Amino acid sequence: MSASVDDRVNLLGLPRAELEAFVAARFGAKPFRARQLLQWIHRRGASSFQEMTDLAKGFRAELEAVATIAVPQIVASQSSSDGTRKWLLRMDASQGIETVFIPEPDRGTLCISSQVGCAMDCGFCATARQGFNRNLSAAEIVGQVWLARRELAAAAAAGETPRSITNVVFMGMGEPLANYRNVLPATRILLDDLAYDLSRRRVTLSTSGLVPQIHRLAEDCNVALAVSLHAPNDALRDQLVPINRKHPIAELLAACWHYLERQNGRSVTFEYVMLDGVNDQPEHARQLARLLRGRPAKLNLIPFNPFVGTQFVRSPDAAILAFRDILNDMGVIATIRRTRGGDIDAACGQLAGRVQDRVVVRLGTKLARAPAEARP
Ligand code: SAH
Repeated sequence: MSASVDDRVNLLGLPRAELEAFVAARFGAKPFRARQLLQWIHRRGASSFQEMTDLAKGFRAELEAVATIAVPQIVASQSSSDGTRKWLLRMDASQGIETVFIPEPDRGTLCISSQVGCAMDCGFCATARQGFNRNLSAAEIVGQVWLARRELAAAAAAGETPRSITNVVFMGMGEPLANYRNVLPATRILLDDLAYDLSRRRVTLSTSGLVPQIHRLAEDCNVALAVSLHAPNDALRDQLVPINRKHPIAELLAACWHYLERQNGRSVTFEYVMLDGVNDQPEHARQLARLLRGRPAKLNLIPFNPFVGTQFVRSPDAAILAFRDILNDMGVIATIRRTRGGDIDAACGQLAGRVQDRVVVRLGTKLARAPAEARP
């Protein structure tokens, strides 16, 4: 760390309670000051204290001395022919993450990242290939939403179709529940009516299956839960989603049902990537139906999105349709996720960012620092 590192508090990552504690401790200020700040930063998109004209000049100057509103920098942005947009954001000197906006007629979904890289090691995911570098801070997580909102507003001002972010999904790079400490305050900011004011059904946390953290989340926060299942039995899931060796399917499903009960939730969405000849056979569909039948579950079938160097192949459309039909016939709601942004590598599982000095981790065991020349 160099001496020039800014050690001011980044207010972008403080949820209301922490912001209130901050202004009270630093300035003896009343909670409504924190509420003003929250609105300025997240609702009105302020990035400097100077523009907060209803705060006294002296207070603004004092704030500037100890606090900042630091947003990630955009390194590159790409637009897909289907309207999907992807931003590569600079997190520090060598690391970058990706954020994707997916417009639909009735909504706009922002897919955000929670880590630089990922340690879960799922073989069919491009992020896993990058290895893991570090957790994002709460400010870096919220910063993605802040930036995307600003960029969409700028595009609209330039004559593009106005778009707004109605849904946020933690389905970008990283395993959100492995960064619980920062993801939790970030979700609080997304849900706060003075900040992004998203309803709890419009913020979705997707996990590969960190059971203890699902139980913690059940106590702490109320958001929609999605679980990357990808296999209907432990033998296959052990291979595809290595965390399954630690927390097998029965344990994972029990945690999901507990989550719904505790949070009064309607259903859990199970994601299932369709890999040709691997997990897409009729017998897999029948096993899956037996697991989820009669449960508050929805299944989202995701056609595999390829990336350079993968050995997996997307299931043929006919196999995906047949798979869905078996599930539906057996009483499980299954839908097929339409691939978006594939032409700019913005589809599910294609986010590679810029992950350097990575450590390859296998189920929590550091294996090796990946050599630079092996980076894809
Ligand atoms: N770590 C979290 C969020 C990450 S990705 C999780 O595992 O849920 C969001 C979804 O995309 C997950 O269901 C993930 O398994 C899926 N995915 C990963 N790679 C993919 C690929 N190449 N094609 C399609 N979906 C993929």
